[in-house]
Amino acid sequence: MSNTESLNPFAIAQRQFDEAAELLGLEASARALLREPMREFVVTIPVRMDNGTTRMFKGYRVQYNSSRGPTKGGLRWHPDETIDTVRALAAWMTWKTAVVDLPLGGGKGGVTCNPKEMSEGEKERLARGYIRAVGRILKITKDVPAPDVYTTPQIMAWMMDEYETLIGEAHPGVITGKPIELGGSQGRGDATARGGIFVVREACDILGIDPSTARSSIQGFGNAGQYAALLGAELLGLKVVAVSDSRSAIYNEDGFDPKALVDHKLRTGAVSGFPGSKSIEPDALLELPVEVLFPSALENAITSRNADKIQAKIICELANGPTTPDADAVLYKRGIYVIPDFLANAGGVTVSYFEQVQNSYNYYWDIGEVYEQLDRKMTQSFLAVHELHEGRKVNMRTAAYMISIDRVAIACRLRGWF
Ligand code: NAD
Repeated sequence: MSNTESLNPFAIAQRQFDEAAELLGLEASARALLREPMREFVVTIPVRMDNGTTRMFKGYRVQYNSSRGPTKGGLRWHPDETIDTVRALAAWMTWKTAVVDLPLGGGKGGVTCNPKEMSEGEKERLARGYIRAVGRILKITKDVPAPDVYTTPQIMAWMMDEYETLIGEAHPGVITGKPIELGGSQGRGDATARGGIFVVREACDILGIDPSTARSSIQGFGNAGQYAALLGAELLGLKVVAVSDSRSAIYNEDGFDPKALVDHKLRTGAVSGFPGSKSIEPDALLELPVEVLFPSALENAITSRNADKIQAKIICELANGPTTPDADAVLYKRGIYVIPDFLANAGGVTVSYFEQVQNSYNYYWDIGEVYEQLDRKMTQSFLAVHELHEGRKVNMRTAAYMISIDRVAIACRLRGWF
């Protein structure tokens, strides 16, 4: 990594924005508004722990921009969560809802905590405490959270229950990613990866790659990574030769049985020890000779330190912020086709939006309807970004930014914000 390369996610989000704003010739007042969050909440949440003590947790909710509609974005529970991570993720949510043209703004939230060290009871009390602290700024017409790293449908259910208890009426649409039995949408569970697989299908078509003979590697094996393995195989015949989680990475050049691997991860809590696999260095996973690489963990996986060693032909960023701007420049020069995060992983928020719509009219779609609408949204959005990337000779990320920033700027201008 170069000494000067910043890994602060919000500094990176602003740098990406600045580059696209320059190409768009955006006026100074528009840049000043759109490179900063419009509203931020930071709270301290007291939680009674199982051992009888009370611990204080820092919680965050950032409403980045609401010009196109209520803000929308997940809640991350992670020990490294900071206000700058949340700001960056909220900015990317703004560009994400815009690139797939949903009538929503962008927001994000989180809590600095380690859920792996907390009991179910402690997690429930933290979920309810978070809603007591920030519930006043949430509403289906204001701001709607969803799951992200280390948050689950069960956590969404506790949060919805706390919200409804506070206001005394049914409001399932205040949060998405809920269990189906509580108003969740069919297809939300695997929507992020499914949307990613749809755009990989399109990219393979453009690049002349036959996915049924292609290999993939997956960094991060949670919701996004596991479903990428399952759906890549099911929908495209894609082989998975390497996967990793926060502790280790494994490899099998003949490819894994994705279903058995997911079962192993769910049963043992780790990818390591999967029969027939060889253990490799987590960093080496990113540099394997594969057709498709799915970064599906956290930020800053691909930096100036390893960008020149990546051998994948397509990088489908299911994670948010996995590639730094310095790495982007190297990848673009080397002809590696990057499907940028806020386009590649927009399937999650798209089906979250479908969930909100179904909650609002209290009538639920069947799974086929969800898949069809998701495919249409992802494919159309992808093709528009690809076309601009070719037309303006910019990388896919900058093309996606240009489309999104333009849409958000139009909404702000119409409102008279600049
Ligand atoms: P998750 O909590 O279900 O899984 C996270 C996985 O990443 C776990 O397997 C964990 O072990 C692994 N991990 C953590 N640190 C790692 C590291 N350093 N190296 C390798 N693996 C590591 O989370 P998720 O929902 O799958 O989210 C993953 C990424 O996808 C995040 O960047 C998230 O913001 C993004 N994303 C998720 C959704 C969604 O709907 N869940 C939507 C859009 C984007």
